[in-house]
Amino acid sequence: MALIVQKYGGSSVKDTDRIKNVAKRVAEYRQKGDQIVVVVSAMGGGTDNLIRLASEINQVPSEREMDMLLATGEQTTIALLAMALHSLDLEAVSLTGPQAGIMTDEVHAKAKIKNISPKQVYNMLDEGNVVIVAGFQGMSPDGRITTLGRGGSDLTAIALASALEADLCQIYTDVDGVYTTDPRVVSKAKKLDEISYDEMIELSSLGARVMQSRSVEFAKKYNVRFEVRSSLNNNPGTIVKEETDSMEDVVVRGVSLDENQAKVTLVRVPDTPGMAARIFSALAVGAINVDMIVQNISHGSATPATDISFTTDKPDLLKALKVIEGLRKEIEFAEVISDEDIAKVSVVGVGMRTHSGIAAKVFETLAAGRINIEMISTSEIKISVVVELEKGKTATQQLHDAFFPVEN
Ligand code: ADP
Ligand code: ASP
Ligand code: MG
Repeated sequence: MALIVQKYGGSSVKDTDRIKNVAKRVAEYRQKGDQIVVVVSAMGGGTDNLIRLASEINQVPSEREMDMLLATGEQTTIALLAMALHSLDLEAVSLTGPQAGIMTDEVHAKAKIKNISPKQVYNMLDEGNVVIVAGFQGMSPDGRITTLGRGGSDLTAIALASALEADLCQIYTDVDGVYTTDPRVVSKAKKLDEISYDEMIELSSLGARVMQSRSVEFAKKYNVRFEVRSSLNNNPGTIVKEETDSMEDVVVRGVSLDENQAKVTLVRVPDTPGMAARIFSALAVGAINVDMIVQNISHGSATPATDISFTTDKPDLLKALKVIEGLRKEIEFAEVISDEDIAKVSVVGVGMRTHSGIAAKVFETLAAGRINIEMISTSEIKISVVVELEKGKTATQQLHDAFFPVEN
């Protein structure tokens, strides 16, 4: 008898028909005699709706109450799925994150899982139940409901699979697996049979929302292999796993597009030691995620100054601008310019460690498409460029065509 953790995302439970479809799938596994723990998200669009409701009431809602509100999305789904399983004559019981023993730190909206005490889950499995756990939520040490960041049900599933030492962890979504790029942007995208943790972490943190990147970091740390697959058919999905030697033979595994970025430029920052440290530690204190950073060469000789640009997530832009304004008394920069009309396009692959010429190919491809590059950043296994927002999809398509030519 195997223990299987299955996670169904918002698109797979977006209405009652889809919930009944999930119940049928779960029942098929259960009837084979396996023990099943199901993690579910809020019904598709449910979390966004709750965020909208909050904003109609209060522009800066309390973080505690916001998490309390958002956690209700997943709680609706667990109860409905339990009822759907009961209609199929299956024993099933739903648990909130805290009831399933998911303990987090106290950071609302982006809580980290600290510990899972799955006693209750084990007890209910032993009693013959399918155990349905609300994704995306846990409890802080002082008993507050916390949430795990957008897409956080992936993390709930992987952390539970690890804590329960599950035999199988399956992430069900609305596409057949992880593709070479978002199949909704590039119809020629190909499904991958396998991908390494590092590649999946990069792709998802660079915009491929098919997996929450924090959940894949967790999977890497605790060596949880998992499969991303469709809840709408029985096609084999993509296995996300540790890197193997043969993976380096593939130079580029995928291309990702992030249209949710913004760029901030501080103009004429005094070019003296400690400026960057001051700016970026203030942003860090404000819990603002900064990704790319570009500093121009200094201009002016009497009082040398330089421009510093960085990118951040669009929702963090206002917060970032506030932090920068707060530095005005200390740092005499000329002005701050922000730009929300940008997109970040990245190519990712562990094979880049051992193959050269990838950056040149990226730049040549974009040049041939007359797409201007505003910023560049690289790591061992990725190259990212910032382009104009309206060129983002074209750039993704062109890079995909260049690295994954269609075979005749
Ligand atoms: P769920 O509701 O199951 O959590 P998400 O909407 O979070 O699903 O993620 C699935 C979506 O991710 C797909 O519908 C697809 O458009 C998008 N996506 C982006 N990049 C990729 C990729 N490389 N491979 C597969 N899907 C991708
Ligand atoms: N419902 C949450 C969200 O929309 C968590 C998830 O779906 O994984 O972000
Ligand atoms: Mg998701």
